[in-house]
Amino acid sequence: MTINPQLLRLEGVYPQRQKEYFMQRIKLPAGIISAPQALKVAEIADRFARGVVHLTTRGSMELHWLTADDLPVVARQLATVGLISRGACGGAVRGVVCSSLSCAGAPRLEALVRLLHRHFSGNPRFENLPKKFKIAVEADTAGGRHLIQDFAMVPVDITAERLTFNVWVAGGLGREPTPAFLFAEGVTEERIIGLVEAVVRVYTAHTPAGKRLKHLVREIGRDEFIARVLAEPAAAEALPTFPSLSASLVPAVATPARRIDVGVFAGELSGSELAALAEIAANQAGGILLVTGNQNIAFHVDPTADLDTVRQELVYAGLPGTSRRERVTCRVCPGSHECLVGLGPTREIAAELVAKLGPAAVKLTWAISGCPNSCAQPQLADVGIVISRLVNEEGERTHRFDLYRGDGSGAFAAVVGQGLSREELLKAVAVIG
Ligand code: SF4
Repeated sequence: MTINPQLLRLEGVYPQRQKEYFMQRIKLPAGIISAPQALKVAEIADRFARGVVHLTTRGSMELHWLTADDLPVVARQLATVGLISRGACGGAVRGVVCSSLSCAGAPRLEALVRLLHRHFSGNPRFENLPKKFKIAVEADTAGGRHLIQDFAMVPVDITAERLTFNVWVAGGLGREPTPAFLFAEGVTEERIIGLVEAVVRVYTAHTPAGKRLKHLVREIGRDEFIARVLAEPAAAEALPTFPSLSASLVPAVATPARRIDVGVFAGELSGSELAALAEIAANQAGGILLVTGNQNIAFHVDPTADLDTVRQELVYAGLPGTSRRERVTCRVCPGSHECLVGLGPTREIAAELVAKLGPAAVKLTWAISGCPNSCAQPQLADVGIVISRLVNEEGERTHRFDLYRGDGSGAFAAVVGQGLSREELLKAVAVIG
């Protein structure tokens, strides 16, 4: 099969570090997947992906170890359950995230996520962007996730009859972490699609290939950027919003009290574990599973089901979330295990690190990124670790780490150690946790 890299990226496929293999990312709006879809992903993982599903910090799933011949077969099988991953990688509008699905009013946020997903996924107008474009809808600014998006929306008052949003733009992590800035306040829901379109058009028209929106804003300044966006006709457009019977899959009363989070170490779930979780969700949680921003699986247990019984079922099924290392919230990217640009074995380092930690570690969020691209979002963790180099001062090949500490304020975590050796890193984290 002839491989066109650009087309593959648009289909959610990246080449792996191991040359003959590929990763297929599965785009899940707001991280939501139904039980039948999860069963299909589990089946595909067992058949094609060495039995493993990787959960990402943006609520997607990834299947590694696919051959070129597997790719069309896997894509068709995913499509049979409505999973289309157009735009999951490359210069496109990526999966729309929402980590607020247990708050009051969550169905309204989910409905907006689905609207944006439908509008931008697979739309040729938005498939030839300079680089990725990330969108999020969040209930509040507490976790700081709105700061790392190209376009983020936070409702002014989620209980209001007519939703309005504060909008942040031009954020991102990577090698030049840049917090998004407040672009507009009180934008009505009817104007959101037009405003995203206007931002994407300005981004596409004025940004060199390979650069994010934050680069453009840095180059031309916020005022000029805002002026250019507001000059776009779409920025003033108000599109009618009609209620949809299928807009939301999370329960109308999705309370944190009835939510169970299943800890998945380093976001690595086996096909059989995912299948077992899908069965439990089908029987006890309205048939819906959530992939969380911390790379875990969560579900809202039905009002008629008994929470303790569900927890027992998880234990009986031998599911993740019950061992100590799975109770430590630690986001981990694939690193050099599979990623083309990974500098080090993130999962191996995470296991070593968690083994060193004391009981205080479970109260903190941890994140380990295999290179400065920061896919595990270390700048949003209480303790963030980035493998920053693969060489020491003497020119020898060895891992060097940067250590970040968050102060709980919601701002980006600050660098507290640079160029640490593995031993220095483990010593430093043992003191923290
Ligand atoms: S942080 Fe680097 S190593 Fe990790 S997944 Fe992203 S690009 Fe790959």
